[in-house]
Amino acid sequence: MAMKNDFVRFFLTEDPNIIKESLEMKQEWEDAKGGAATGTQGVKKKKMEIFLKPFAEALGTPEKLHIINIGFVRVCHNNCKNFSTIDNTFEPQLGYNITACDCGNLMCMEIHSVLKSKIDGKLYDITPDFNNEKSKWFVPMKHNKPCRIHMQLAGRKLDCFNKQVKRCKCGVGWNMPPSFEPQHLCNIVKMLDRAIVVMMG
Ligand SMILES: [Zn+2]
Repeated sequence: MAMKNDFVRFFLTEDPNIIKESLEMKQEWEDAKGGAATGTQGVKKKKMEIFLKPFAEALGTPEKLHIINIGFVRVCHNNCKNFSTIDNTFEPQLGYNITACDCGNLMCMEIHSVLKSKIDGKLYDITPDFNNEKSKWFVPMKHNKPCRIHMQLAGRKLDCFNKQVKRCKCGVGWNMPPSFEPQHLCNIVKMLDRAIVVMMG
């Protein structure tokens, strides 16, 4: 993990189009200067517990991870897959990152991949944040199938979830209904978790 950033960046992805796309998205974001409505700072532990309760069967324990700035913005799944081919003591771990508005009541989850050490199980986030967050809350899926397999079963409908734990007091002005039923994710994670047992047994 102590390699020079640019050195690792060079090796992290085999597809120059992905690098180009990532850099363009980063530039667009910086040009727009909009800032994000939700971030790491707004996340309150008690509210996060309430937010995550319906996902108890699908998601593990949330952890605040320091971001190690060696990957490319927006391509977390590739960053982790490619890093794992360089250093096979790590494997990708799929899950969600969690952000909240300033008052902490509007919470969001977005699908995310980090690295998991095969030696001690520790998690490392190597994808720089769009909004230059230095750390991010991450909650792992309770299955260890690759992202590709998860997507085959879940599609992209389960990528994002947002909910107001209580009424937002900071005027984010954003009152979309939750994008999917938590039970749907629980069912898929249980299915994938069992699939491993079947394959191994
Ligand atoms: Zn708020």
